[in-house]
Amino acid sequence: MLALVLFATLFFAAPATVLAGAPLQATSFKTAGDANHVRMVLDLDREPEVQPRWFLLRSPNRLVIDLPPTQFRLDPKDLTARGLIRGARFGSPHPDASRLILTARGPFSVESFDILKNDDGNGFRLAVDLAATSDRAFEQALADQAIETGSTVSTPKSDRIADAKKRFTIVIDPGHGGADGGAEGVSGTLEKTVTLAFAQELKAVLDAEDRYDVSLTRDTDVFIPLDERVRIARQREADLFVSIHADTIGVKGLRGATVYTVSDKASDPEAEALAIRENLSDQVAGLALPDADAEVADILVDLVRRETHSFSIRFARTLVGQLRHSIGVIKNPHRFAGFRVLKAPDVPSVLIELGYLSNPKDEKLLADADWREKAAGSIAKGIAAFAGSRAGAGG
Ligand SMILES: [Zn+2]
Repeated sequence: MLALVLFATLFFAAPATVLAGAPLQATSFKTAGDANHVRMVLDLDREPEVQPRWFLLRSPNRLVIDLPPTQFRLDPKDLTARGLIRGARFGSPHPDASRLILTARGPFSVESFDILKNDDGNGFRLAVDLAATSDRAFEQALADQAIETGSTVSTPKSDRIADAKKRFTIVIDPGHGGADGGAEGVSGTLEKTVTLAFAQELKAVLDAEDRYDVSLTRDTDVFIPLDERVRIARQREADLFVSIHADTIGVKGLRGATVYTVSDKASDPEAEALAIRENLSDQVAGLALPDADAEVADILVDLVRRETHSFSIRFARTLVGQLRHSIGVIKNPHRFAGFRVLKAPDVPSVLIELGYLSNPKDEKLLADADWREKAAGSIAKGIAAFAGSRAGAGG
């Protein structure tokens, strides 16, 4: 305490009270959330005399928070990666300013930034909510920031964001990968291998049409958490997210394709069981499930979510219509359940089970190049119909 007062006296001329001029004490740093939403809380001993400010930096995507002189008494363990935040650093570039820098996994927006009084009357906290967003939205925020602060030469409005009309963007998600092999066929075929091979073929078919922007969530045998797959789709401003799977199922004799959309309530027990198994993917790879408190209860988000959901259903039906006449579908081929990988609030998303590795006939078909070409062709037709209807609607 003595050292602290001494420090304060040395660096800050004539403090009016013991506190005024003494550095803020940041006593803890906590984050909670997943790859799509993160809340950061920095505990402070008192209300800062000067309101903290923030700005964005790119390459990598960072949030810089400027604080009045602050002594950081943080546990380094708390500064490790969580969800959207890849790391945090702090320091004092000048004696009269301190800084906290959060590095994100990708583009994000600052949803809220507040100094709040703690309920127990003990000190204050800086609470910041970040949400994953698209590269375009992040660039727009950077441009707005430059104009607001005048800190850099402002860019003419027409140049601010690429004006070129964005192509219909598809993110294909090969299910599983790395430590998470997915299902295993009777003759040893691994689901993660089948899904990657098929996703690459589907991308080639779509690329050949030269009218889409197509990318994969993974193009090697790596593990990617489910929420990270969702974040990637949002970063790329996907108009469509298609997750590819080929699972096993306990029902004997069941074969053919199925198209799933997300729903809190499952269409049937098989769909529910499948969603539970798919959602275990993160645990298979030794990753803890993220905190549930990152769910956003925002009415605007809910409205967008509802609209997105109706597009997902429309696409699922279109797809079923195509697959029925090419590779065949199971009975009631459009099903739904609580798949975490389909939970992007703003990207229409479906999960396609191409067939079931547990069925020897399906396993053989999945390895057949002609069959795969037929399947990819009909999915591409479904996508073309959906993209056409979206273009007509001005979206
Ligand atoms: Zn799967």
